[in-house]
Amino acid sequence: MASASSNQKWNMIVDVAKCDNCRGCFLAVKDEHIGNDIPGYAAPQPPQGHNWLEIERKERGAYPIVEAHFMPVMCNHCDDAPCMKAAKNGAITKRPDGIVIIDPVKSKGQKQIVAACPYNAISWNEELQIPQAWIFDAHLLDEGWTKTRAEQSCAMGVFKSLKIDDAEMQRLAAKEGLEVRRPELGTKPRIYYKNLHLMTKCFVGGSVVAHVNGVEDCVAGAQVVLKQDGREVGRATTDTFGEWKIDRLEPGSRGYLVEVTGAAGRFSLQFDLGGESRYLGVMKLGG
Ligand code: SF4
Ligand code: SF4
Repeated sequence: MASASSNQKWNMIVDVAKCDNCRGCFLAVKDEHIGNDIPGYAAPQPPQGHNWLEIERKERGAYPIVEAHFMPVMCNHCDDAPCMKAAKNGAITKRPDGIVIIDPVKSKGQKQIVAACPYNAISWNEELQIPQAWIFDAHLLDEGWTKTRAEQSCAMGVFKSLKIDDAEMQRLAAKEGLEVRRPELGTKPRIYYKNLHLMTKCFVGGSVVAHVNGVEDCVAGAQVVLKQDGREVGRATTDTFGEWKIDRLEPGSRGYLVEVTGAAGRFSLQFDLGGESRYLGVMKLGG
């Protein structure tokens, strides 16, 4: 059992669907670091200009099907970290527990480290002439804490810190559909996101109506099938307002055909997706 625990490393799961942009986590990180020197971990964060944890925002769709989503982003504590490759004199190290630390003394003057992070997670401290990033609250975890300040501050339960071995984390990621930011970079982040599609993918939606006894009314329970190049890629049923939505489409993808079928008749429409989600408008069954 002891040998198993020595392989355990820190990971964080962030659920995009739960974040409401209250910014409590953002403030918790500032509270932890502004004016606080933590030797061996991090020098004080300047009062202004540094956001070691930031909240990204994404708006999707158009009236009446429009959504806003929020996503905390910070250093990913990558296993194959470009910042480490850019650092000289061992200024950045990966601890056995997976956490990446920029040494506040050895990194002095090494501004090249800032540009090396493809996630823009590193800030430059002009006064101290050092690069700085979110340290996963390593100083607190080393004292026995099991949750970061950001996690403790979040009333929505967005964050979940996990110290488990890598194989178990990969199993969990596969089971829960977790993703990392920009996997194509090959940096192997330790921050995993749930529902990342809310930030990175598009949806398409519409409203279905029909004339009943001379009155236009919304149609609930109509079947919507989405095809791309003749192959079905999504399916939905209209809700009580006649609205439907199909998600997780690639931005910029093309060649779609949507077919709507209800008791009052059929409707079909061909379209391409631009860079953003689309509301396809009102679809009238039966002409
Ligand atoms: S504290 Fe939680 S809900 Fe608030 S911004 Fe941070 S992650 Fe989102
Ligand atoms: S997110 Fe950036 S700063 Fe953090 S480990 Fe990865 S490359 Fe380095």
